[in-house]
Amino acid sequence: MSRRTFVAGNWKMNTRADAAVALAGAVRDGLPSDSRCEVALCPPSLYLHAVRQTLGDSPIGVGGQNLYPEADGAFTGEINAAMLVDVGCRYVILGHSERRQLMGETDQDVASKCRAALDAGLTPIVCIGETLEQREAEMTNSVVDSQIRGSLHGLSPEDAARIVLAYEPVWAIGTGRTATPEQAEAVHAFIRALLGELFGEAVANQIRIQYGGSVKPGNAAELLGQPNIDGALVGGASLKAEDFLGIIAAAPQS
Ligand code: PEP
Repeated sequence: MSRRTFVAGNWKMNTRADAAVALAGAVRDGLPSDSRCEVALCPPSLYLHAVRQTLGDSPIGVGGQNLYPEADGAFTGEINAAMLVDVGCRYVILGHSERRQLMGETDQDVASKCRAALDAGLTPIVCIGETLEQREAEMTNSVVDSQIRGSLHGLSPEDAARIVLAYEPVWAIGTGRTATPEQAEAVHAFIRALLGELFGEAVANQIRIQYGGSVKPGNAAELLGQPNIDGALVGGASLKAEDFLGIIAAAPQS
């Protein structure tokens, strides 16, 4: 089954208004019109609207970096799924390791956010991945297993078919240290088998699993060429249009 390659840029808290608009414009202008890749930009939420406006009728989508899983109410400082939809988002990153580590997000939180995203019509990009300590203790598969079971808890197979997963080994994020294509593929294959167990093989074969962790133009072709790697969630290299476009260009075009 062929899954359309999906490359998303996670700008984190790294852009200001002018730079965000300039970067979005450069990616828009540089994306070849015949690219078969699905592409998304995830700027800080304050700039979602400006980035969306800049992208105009380009096929590039925008996504939030988080959401709060409640409807309207007394939740000072929070942004919900309907608000992301209002500003033109198609996607939302959920459970990024920085949020898990710095903001104490749990799998249960991610599951609630995932439900809210799906109910609002957003595509959640659900992040999972082990720390270096866990990898060295040979716990990678068990950590990923429990994060997936927890973060996707309560989803039906129909719901699951609408999500994207991002396998991001924590030790490879922003460190310049990338998982080898073989290391990444082994975990992706494990994840797909688990998704088959949870949601059935047909759904598992449909779900895109991105790899994230120091993806760059120079290592993208090999990573994205692996049978179970269906795209990339890109941090640092998404902040330079040339590098981000280089990653997209390295993706299989079939
Ligand atoms: C990320 O934070 O999602 C990420 C993959 O970052 P980087 O590409 O910088 O490692």
